[in-house]
Amino acid sequence: MSKAPEYPSIKSRTLTITHDIPISRTKVYWDGLREGKVYATKCKNCGQTYYPPQPDCPNCLTSNMDWIQISEGTLETFTQAYLKPQGFTHYEQNYIIAIAKVSEEIKVMGWLEETDIKNVKVEMPVEITAKTMPDGFPTIILKPKQTSTQHPALNQ
Ligand SMILES: [Zn+2]
Repeated sequence: MSKAPEYPSIKSRTLTITHDIPISRTKVYWDGLREGKVYATKCKNCGQTYYPPQPDCPNCLTSNMDWIQISEGTLETFTQAYLKPQGFTHYEQNYIIAIAKVSEEIKVMGWLEETDIKNVKVEMPVEITAKTMPDGFPTIILKPKQTSTQHPALNQ
């Protein structure tokens, strides 16, 4: 329940909040990112695929899942980040975030390895990989199959 601010008041400094993300049931996914691989899950019962990976199938309520690597798709949409959200402000270059369609069930969001947005087209084929960024966070990387220039932030 929020309380109405008393006046006069002043704004506090911006707060940075971190939290621990439990990964015991999705460790394959997180380990894969460190190895440059992106995994989804596929239900052994009904065949439904999930990304982000689900350790349980919401369709048939089992935990009988396979891990499947996803490695390519086509760009469905993209945008360039000029104003970086908290946690990304240390990236000096504007970067492009995109969503790649792998199948009707699987769409993957990641950083596009391309600096010139004029070279980016919807439906262009991309490789889906991952890498650990200089700040230590694993990140999904979408690589255009015929790329011109790499994003400097991705080469550090
Ligand atoms: Zn299922």
